[in-house]
Amino acid sequence: TPRATPPRFASPAEALRTVFGYDSFRGQQAAIIDRVVAGGDAVVLMPTGGGKSLCYQIPSLVREGTGVVVSPLIALMQDQVDALTAVGVRAAFLNSTQDAGQRAAVERDYLAGELDILYVAPERLSSEATKRFLERGRVALFAIDEAHCVSQWGHDFRPDYLALSELADRWPDVPRIALTATATEATHRELTERLRLQDAEHFVSDFDRPNIQYRIVPKVEVRKQLLDFITGEHPGEAGIVYALSRNSVERTAEFLSGRGLTALPYHAGLDAQTRARTQARFLREDGVIVVATIAFGMGIDKPDVRFVAHIDLPKSVEGYYQETGRAGRDGLPSTTWLAYGLQDVVQQRRMIDESPGDLAHRRRLTQHLDAMLALCETVQCRRVNLLNYFGQRATPCGNCDTCLTPPETWDGTVPAQKLLSTVVRLQRERNQRFGAGHLIDILRAKRTPRVEQYGHDRLSTWGIGEDLGESQWRGVVRQLIAQELLKPEGEYGVLTLTPASAEVLSGGREVVLRREPERAARSSRGGRS
Ligand code: ADP
Ligand code: ZN
Repeated sequence: TPRATPPRFASPAEALRTVFGYDSFRGQQAAIIDRVVAGGDAVVLMPTGGGKSLCYQIPSLVREGTGVVVSPLIALMQDQVDALTAVGVRAAFLNSTQDAGQRAAVERDYLAGELDILYVAPERLSSEATKRFLERGRVALFAIDEAHCVSQWGHDFRPDYLALSELADRWPDVPRIALTATATEATHRELTERLRLQDAEHFVSDFDRPNIQYRIVPKVEVRKQLLDFITGEHPGEAGIVYALSRNSVERTAEFLSGRGLTALPYHAGLDAQTRARTQARFLREDGVIVVATIAFGMGIDKPDVRFVAHIDLPKSVEGYYQETGRAGRDGLPSTTWLAYGLQDVVQQRRMIDESPGDLAHRRRLTQHLDAMLALCETVQCRRVNLLNYFGQRATPCGNCDTCLTPPETWDGTVPAQKLLSTVVRLQRERNQRFGAGHLIDILRAKRTPRVEQYGHDRLSTWGIGEDLGESQWRGVVRQLIAQELLKPEGEYGVLTLTPASAEVLSGGREVVLRREPERAARSSRGGRS
């Protein structure tokens, strides 16, 4: 007959000491744990590395029954269970990687009251059979990890999460705790509604990660810049390099390896065994760099990641924050470094234009990208911008590139007018549209075959922009896009005007631009300047 797993410890403090070997709780952990142990629901917004796991692991050990943890990270369940088993917690998981025999053994342990914690993949928990099975034993609590996955607004939506709203009906007396490191107001509201956590207590942590230095540089020769950054500031240290495409992951890993670094590629196109081996080396060896698509890192607990680099523009601030948050979980100084360029903006706009889904969906993606661009182009403290985005107040931090070397601004109204009027002329007089490269050639009077072909040397704006260099002009274009004064469209990123462009052209609006450092990398630790 089914039995409930008896409590293993009388108090959370005892479990913390005995099982995990820690003396004290961190931040809001104690309050969260007390709430759940007492049977109340909780919504926990805590940054990556903040210590979310203990918030459901300890109540699972103190309450009668088994703590059921819903997690989308199937690939990591084995690791999590191994880590718990190693410290004497009776943990297991149910997911699609198991055969019938393994599943039966786990089910038997649960029904016999011999499991403290059971990890379940969301698609399992949405099945009626699994729910009926769980009802035959005793659930101590439901923990919904990575709870932002229920949000369609967010960057990581998983349809299976929608079915989790049913838990409230089926187990009205079992406390539920939802946890995420994504803390925008919209996500917060949506997950509270969708998971039916209207009676929950909310625990919102401080999202600041003071030991992380934020830097964002213009992309020039990205692989060389990356190499300089790593060898100059973090030689021999562990780090993650994020890129958007598999191809770029492969080539970057090869490039770094060719320069004597231990750099391993990681993306969804590699087989499971290779990925597992890479992950294991990253965790166990010193100084391994993983070059990855975003498929890497969720849930990986490596405290001494010294840097996170992005060689492509992340799609959202949420994503950027989560990925950069994997640096410096041990609290020691760490760096995040992002290189981005005009091409990133063009490419991502195109991906949004071509993405399946309705207009509202594309509009959301555009808003995410715009927020990311605003962070890149801000002349204020990066951290202030980042924390404000998550609805938190902050003062300039002194530990980001804009604080350390405040960017100068300059009046870019005239260059903006030159560029925009070239776009207007081509569009109105000749019904032609071009990308940034050709427009800059016209402004800088560069005779190219295309200029000859179209007779663009006869345009009235031919050569009126020779006062700025090619890369300065690219910076102008990028910033005008970020300020929504220009819009790249289609496969080639042809530039078109926006409703706001007219104001600039008529002299009714000033354009303030950020002056780009000539050489990208700068740091407080005496990097080149
Ligand atoms: P999150 O899931 O929020 O990213 P984790 O639960 O993985 O964070 O915890 C991050 C790290 O902090 C882990 O190595 C964990 O063991 C450690 N940790 C958590 N709580 C405490 C604590 N109270 N005292 C010391 N270390 C802790
Ligand atoms: Zn700052």
